[in-house]
Amino acid sequence: MHDFFLAKQILEKIREIVMEKKLERISKVSLEIGSIVLAHDNLPEHLEDINIENLVFGLKSFAKDTALAQVEFDVQKVAGESWKITSIEVE
Ligand SMILES: [Zn+2]
Repeated sequence: MHDFFLAKQILEKIREIVMEKKLERISKVSLEIGSIVLAHDNLPEHLEDINIENLVFGLKSFAKDTALAQVEFDVQKVAGESWKITSIEVE
């Protein structure tokens, strides 16, 4: 289940950066994803491995009908317990 919760968090972060930097026409976002500690469904925080296919599906689903609908998401699985946005490309 972390896949979808993480997808929402990632999109929020992308929107923050897009606003801050006043970016337009985003074409591609690259991400590095490790195992993620996250709380959800009233559970305490716990560590879960992220399924990349589910994550990308979640990102595309939540981005649909928004300014990020056309964005290509390039997700790399990495070691560690965090995630980060490595680049945001514009057209
Ligand atoms: Zn979980």
